[in-house]
Amino acid sequence: MSARGFKGRMVIFTAPSGAGKTTIVRHLLNRYKRQLGFSTSATTREKRQHEVDGKDYYFLSPDKFRQKINDGAFVEYEEVYQDQFYGTLKSEIERIWSLGKHIIFDIEVKGATNIKNMYGDKCMAVFIKPPSFNVLVDRLKNRKSESESSLNKRIARMKKELSYESSFDKVLVNDLLPVACKEAEIMIEAFLNISEEEE
Ligand code: 5GP
Repeated sequence: MSARGFKGRMVIFTAPSGAGKTTIVRHLLNRYKRQLGFSTSATTREKRQHEVDGKDYYFLSPDKFRQKINDGAFVEYEEVYQDQFYGTLKSEIERIWSLGKHIIFDIEVKGATNIKNMYGDKCMAVFIKPPSFNVLVDRLKNRKSESESSLNKRIARMKKELSYESSFDKVLVNDLLPVACKEAEIMIEAFLNISEEEE
């Protein structure tokens, strides 16, 4: 399944929406291009303008997503917002490990907990924490990618998600982005036993 002699590991970045995990994950992917592969999730939500199908997400119809649930194709999936499903495909994990790369995830807290419980020591789960709840709300509003009702759904969810902090291996406070990125690099290099020079 994976390249010979390669022991595939996983790093999960999880956080309340707006805590900056996507930015940090992108930074890491760019820095460790040869060592890391992004787990592209499947989702039923609408594609945003800048997103690419098959890269940011596999955008599926609700019927197709349901079919994949029935086929047992997911390692985990969640209805993150009402009628919006997100899930990690088994085939994604196999695909990335077979390339001899470690897997990096950008997923919400419940999915992150499930994957961590399944893969144990193979997996490092990092909870990214905003400096405060208000900062989080402001960031989400500034993103301007959400309608009013979607924004309210996301704020309600964020409150709950902030309470999950203690379930994860590491907590990373994202106050100043360059500092948070550096800290994430240190965590990754230690866990995966890699360094940027390998690139
Ligand atoms: P967004 O719609 O902003 O791209 O993502 C909404 C939330 O769903 C984010 O917290 C994101 O990390 C999470 N998410 C993305 N993919 C998955 C997945 O495969 N499984 C789970 N459980 N959550 C996901």
